[in-house]
Amino acid sequence: MSTKMTIDGNTAASHVAYAFSEVAAIYPITPSSPMAEVADEWSAQGRVNMFDQKLRLAEMESEGGAAGAVHGSLTAGALTTTYTASQGLLLMIPNMYKIAGELLPTVFHVSARALAAHALNIFGDHSDVMACRQTGFAMLASNSVQEVMDLALVAHLSTLKAKVPFLHFFDGFRTSHEVSKIDVIDYDEMKTLVDMNDIEEFRKRALNPEHPVQRGTAQNADIYFQNRETANKYYNATPAIVQEMMDKVSKLTGRSYHLFDYVGAKDAENVIVLMGSGADAVEETINKMNSEGHRVGLLKVRLYRPFSIEHFTEALPKTVKKLAVLDRTKEPGSLGEPLYLDVCAALLEKGMTDIKVVGGRYGLGSKEFNPSMVYAVYKNLESKEPKNHFTVGIYDDLTNTSLDFSEQYNAAPAGTISCKFWGLGSDGTVGANKNSIKIIGDHTDKYVQGYFFYDSKKSGGITVSHLRFGDTKIQSAYLIDAADFVQCSNPSYITRYDMTGDLKEGGSFLLNTSALTVEQLEHVLPAKVKNDIANKHIHFYVIDAIDIAAGLGLKGRTNTILQSAFFKIANIIPYTDAVEFMKKMAYKSFSKKGDAVVQMNYDAIDSASANLVKIDVPESWKTTTEGAEMVKVSGTEYFLNTVAPIIAQKGDKLPSSKFSPDGTVPTGTTQYEKRGVAVLVPKWNAEKCIQCNQCSFVCPHACIRPAVVKSDAEKPASFETKAMIGNKGYDFRIQVSPLDCMGCGVCANICPAKEKALEMVPLGSVVEEETVNYDYSEKLEKVDVSNVPGCKATTVKGSQFRQPLFEFSGACAGCGETPYVKVITQMFGDRMIVANATGCSSIYGGSAPTCPYTVNKEGHGPAWANSLFEDNAEFGYGINLAYAQRRSKLADVITKLAEEATEQTVKDAANAWLENRNDAEGSKAASAKLVALIENCKGNCPLSDLTNEIIKNKDCLVKKSIWIFGG
Ligand code: SF4
Ligand code: SF4
Ligand code: SF4
Repeated sequence: MSTKMTIDGNTAASHVAYAFSEVAAIYPITPSSPMAEVADEWSAQGRVNMFDQKLRLAEMESEGGAAGAVHGSLTAGALTTTYTASQGLLLMIPNMYKIAGELLPTVFHVSARALAAHALNIFGDHSDVMACRQTGFAMLASNSVQEVMDLALVAHLSTLKAKVPFLHFFDGFRTSHEVSKIDVIDYDEMKTLVDMNDIEEFRKRALNPEHPVQRGTAQNADIYFQNRETANKYYNATPAIVQEMMDKVSKLTGRSYHLFDYVGAKDAENVIVLMGSGADAVEETINKMNSEGHRVGLLKVRLYRPFSIEHFTEALPKTVKKLAVLDRTKEPGSLGEPLYLDVCAALLEKGMTDIKVVGGRYGLGSKEFNPSMVYAVYKNLESKEPKNHFTVGIYDDLTNTSLDFSEQYNAAPAGTISCKFWGLGSDGTVGANKNSIKIIGDHTDKYVQGYFFYDSKKSGGITVSHLRFGDTKIQSAYLIDAADFVQCSNPSYITRYDMTGDLKEGGSFLLNTSALTVEQLEHVLPAKVKNDIANKHIHFYVIDAIDIAAGLGLKGRTNTILQSAFFKIANIIPYTDAVEFMKKMAYKSFSKKGDAVVQMNYDAIDSASANLVKIDVPESWKTTTEGAEMVKVSGTEYFLNTVAPIIAQKGDKLPSSKFSPDGTVPTGTTQYEKRGVAVLVPKWNAEKCIQCNQCSFVCPHACIRPAVVKSDAEKPASFETKAMIGNKGYDFRIQVSPLDCMGCGVCANICPAKEKALEMVPLGSVVEEETVNYDYSEKLEKVDVSNVPGCKATTVKGSQFRQPLFEFSGACAGCGETPYVKVITQMFGDRMIVANATGCSSIYGGSAPTCPYTVNKEGHGPAWANSLFEDNAEFGYGINLAYAQRRSKLADVITKLAEEATEQTVKDAANAWLENRNDAEGSKAASAKLVALIENCKGNCPLSDLTNEIIKNKDCLVKKSIWIFGG
């Protein structure tokens, strides 16, 4: 019997894979990791597969290793699976050829993700799976969480029968992480569909010394080719087998599937062809368009490999005149993207050349694909000369590929309730929303959908939860752009992001704030927010969840209070029921922590109703131009024109021309972010301070620094200092950057002064004066204190007087890694190159839009690059090889200069560089001297060939410090 459950796509895939697998060899990679995690958890809990055995899960050293282990396990006759994505899948390709070549049945479940090209992107598109289309794996696409459940089953059944291995894929994040209420098929039902003879046949082919064979031989030109062709009949048979299995699953579930499923007008002339989650957005759009008199359709590709021309052409309506084939991948330099080329070839082979075909790219790296974009594709098809090789969803002002999608097209069916929640990473908002969606999904007949957007900070960044509830199936596989309810969990967001712009007329807005009256709100809300609230007749609620949480001992954990307030306002289920369900969830989550913690959460749930304030919105808000100022940012032109819009969540609107084609970005941009997310920041007490600089040393974010200032310098009034130990005539101060501080408290904890010289105080109490003080201290001329007793640069204290060339990164508050990165840049940053593996350090160190690596006043600082996850040692080694070789050539030129120069000063300078070239400080001094002497060497100088060569390569003169950082 199937059961309704509210789960995500990864769990749905893993549920089926678990049933059919005896072994899983894995290596975790986003966004596929949860498939392995839940399988591991189920195995640990004793869950058994279809054969009454627990899954044996082995985590390997890499995806290449995982694929090798899968190959081995299959060779020895165990039903085996794996789960992966992106470059991880690409590492499996060599073994995929082997597995397919040996006709070993398996299913790889892939949450399809973009590939790292000009930049890493962990989000969804089909670049990874499309890179596998030549391996011999059959490829089956699921478009929604329900389809993941159903088609995963089709894939497992089909591979056993066909002997062709399957790659079952669905869109990373959009489907893998979307929470939806679906029918879960239980294992007993699945078992009824399995032909046990298929399994027996597979096992008979296992390597076994009792009936030995040899597999994987080396063949020569005489036989390899014809042997390779023997697999054809298996591929020819596969489409029919897949359809047979789809029919079986349809019979069981009542949900019908075909290799290609057509939906839309029976007499459609304009049809979109695509696969993946975009299909739901297209289907929703065509339902609306056809109700308005258009005749449009959609062909969903489910079995992409083997591509069945017969099934494809049969599925198209006879009336079709134009096709737009949409690929969620980019194949630079090709005639077109893969699905487009397949469709062109299919129609050509069938002689259906009267159908006009255009191809387009959409949704790369989870770029939004919504009804307005779908509408633009149909408009393009309807035009006399449809644009070919187009893009949709971006503004390409360089090669003008993009379609205009500025016409808003809302296709969401009436009756769906859309809710958006703005939270701060790690503040519990996302967790609470997952909880809410389960409550509504599990306790009502409503369809539910939850999608969670995160920015690229490790924590402390923005999260936006998109929740939909409806009485009909929800196909809106895109972000909410017209909300019935919006919640803002973080008071500081109100002046940073436009949260009321997409609220519907008559919607509800819940703000977490200490301003609970109209009078207080006058100063807190920007004019634009007031205008929106009044003009759109928004029901406006406020609650001081921070204060309530503090009173309950919940230490800033406001999520439960806000969740309860949401249920009270949104009224999707009776509030009393919601309270009961929330309490049950709280008991489940916290009972292990004791009754007191459970009670605290019960109190938080109960507190919301009594503390929720509905604001009587004044008429004056309709037109007011007064209110809190939106945060103004300063910075370089690049920061203001490119980074700032991205930070303001308006990156989607930036045109292609704003970006460099190779993905290179300027460094030193986190300094302009001024996130202001700390609740408490350290305040320095000069009297108690013993000037040890330990606070600065441990700060993960380089937000607290020692300042050295002339005792008689003019300083801001609040810039308190004390005489610097051992450095007469200079004063010392510990300065905090309040708007960059993450409030982790690590500095105050470490402070070894007898009475702590740092006290954590509310940000608001110090932000103004400390911002002035920080700006002043940053402009101070750096004083070289390396000869002051106890201040040698190689000591904890002395190192902190050097400028950190890594600052304000997106690492978690209190991160233990980043202080090391920071101190390395204080030692070597001005001549440093970093080869960074993929992982935490590449995310906090290299996530767009800002860069924490920065420069000194000469403009020198770390140069940073990331290649892949697994090749970083080699990548760094390559950088080292290049500099060794380039500097060796330079040494040859300088040796020649030393020999041929007639001026003794030039000879001496060249020799000095040759002697010091492998010494950091020595090479700096020698390089400066040499460059100064030869830079003005004119063209008629007999040695100008040599000097020009040296000047051309002068950026190689100083010894480089090359670092390989783990991920
Ligand atoms: S509270 Fe944390 S982030 Fe802020 S200055 Fe101290 S150590 Fe740095
Ligand atoms: S750790 Fe404490 S004593 Fe040491 S410099 Fe910082 S504030 Fe002063
Ligand atoms: S290493 Fe740092 S950034 Fe990464 S998870 Fe740990 S605390 Fe967060």
